[in-house]
Amino acid sequence: MAGVAVGGREEARLALEAAKRAFPVWSSMPAEERSEVLREAARLVRQRRDEIARLLTLEQGKPLKSSRSEVLSAADVLDYYAEEGKRNTGQWLAGPHSRSIVLWQPIGVAALITPWNYPVDLLSWKVAPCLAAGCTFVSKPPSLAPLAATEFVRAVSDAGLPAGAANVVHGPGGTAGAELVESPISRKIAFTGETATGRAVMAAAAARIKRISLELGGQSPFIVCADADLPAAAASAAHRAFSNMGQICVSVNRIYVADEVAEAFTDQLVSLAESLKIGDGMQPGVELGPMFSSQQREKTKEHVADALERGAELLAGGSEPEGEEFSRGFFFRPTVLGRADHSMRVMREETFGPVAPIMKFKSVQEAVALANDTEYGLAAYVYTGSLKTAMQVAEGLEAGGIGVNVNSVIDRQAPFGGWKQSGLGRELGRWGLEAYLETKHIRVGVWKE
Ligand code: NDP
Repeated sequence: MAGVAVGGREEARLALEAAKRAFPVWSSMPAEERSEVLREAARLVRQRRDEIARLLTLEQGKPLKSSRSEVLSAADVLDYYAEEGKRNTGQWLAGPHSRSIVLWQPIGVAALITPWNYPVDLLSWKVAPCLAAGCTFVSKPPSLAPLAATEFVRAVSDAGLPAGAANVVHGPGGTAGAELVESPISRKIAFTGETATGRAVMAAAAARIKRISLELGGQSPFIVCADADLPAAAASAAHRAFSNMGQICVSVNRIYVADEVAEAFTDQLVSLAESLKIGDGMQPGVELGPMFSSQQREKTKEHVADALERGAELLAGGSEPEGEEFSRGFFFRPTVLGRADHSMRVMREETFGPVAPIMKFKSVQEAVALANDTEYGLAAYVYTGSLKTAMQVAEGLEAGGIGVNVNSVIDRQAPFGGWKQSGLGRELGRWGLEAYLETKHIRVGVWKE
């Protein structure tokens, strides 16, 4: 059992004031010097990797190996922005009677609000570009998984930041989080979480026309064409549907398979689902830990029950694993459903659980239409052996990231974000840095002698 001090509006306000005091110091430091601090932060995070990863597994449930990768990935993001921050160059434009200088300057104090599924990695996507741009911040980790995120910020802060540049406030989203969004001190809100919360954050931020980035929910389709490499497609779908117990915004949520290969693909997916080792995340060799909370598991069960009532076929999983070792923790078996259709909640809502529903299609056009039949648009995947099909499908899909013969749309140097109700703005790459910068035009009159 672990606990943190719970703050409210007052604690959030004090943290914002500290960040405001530190802003002139940090923002006026040359980018080269800020880069050195970020490099040192990356080094400290790597040095403390085991300690942070242990906390992450204990509070979130994911296997220790995954927690270590998450912490190392966060260190890599710090290193990436140590360099990207140096490339915030301006522009020079010559007019007939004037010269224009275009600058990108740090926005000011940023509020960074994050969820529990990747509490360290997703925070690094905000902390690193925010600091590289010259902004200071107050972060609010998720209430039920605050420990690893806090130790991550501690490591960053220990790297030589001015006092008050990096802050953490713990407390409920409705009070501590709301204060960070509503306060006149925060000029930028970077939020990752549910679409419904993002909508409330956007409405509150509108009162002061704040800059916002929203990374919200997803309902990602995975299309398997008749000419796909089936073993590769099945392995890729299994990994992206079940890892982190399906609690990933870019998880595979809906699988559409060409009629002629549906049986072969389904058999392979089912055998992969049944082979995954479930257990205590602290034990070696475990591939899937428990789900984060009883609430998450209940929602998953409801979605499976709804699908079965509406005619889906249970092909794997669908229940808790049996055995004494699963009596503590919210375990659930990776689940594969056949005969899925769009009347089912599992095909329309974000389950955020380890469920892979399969629906057959007759033509690629039909698959694209089905994939786009959702209010979400974060990620989408297609497996095919044809470049022409890959391009046609990729261009037709309504999502911010498309994976072609690959099951991840995350690349540190490329933009990440959603279309439709999956969000607004982009993180990572140079787009991630721009999210913390304001544009300024300085016009200088020139005179001819
Ligand atoms: P929530 O939206 O419930 O919470 C996210 C964060 O917002 C938490 O820190 C929460 O605090 C805080 N919060 C809640 N209410 C407010 C408010 N009114 N004002 C300010 N902050 C508030 O999301 P979950 O933690 O349940 O995370 C799961 C969701 O995140 C899924 O929908 C998933 O798809 C999405 N997600 C999106 C990603 C993307 O990149 N698009 C990546 C990862 C996840 P508290 O914990 O105290 O409630």
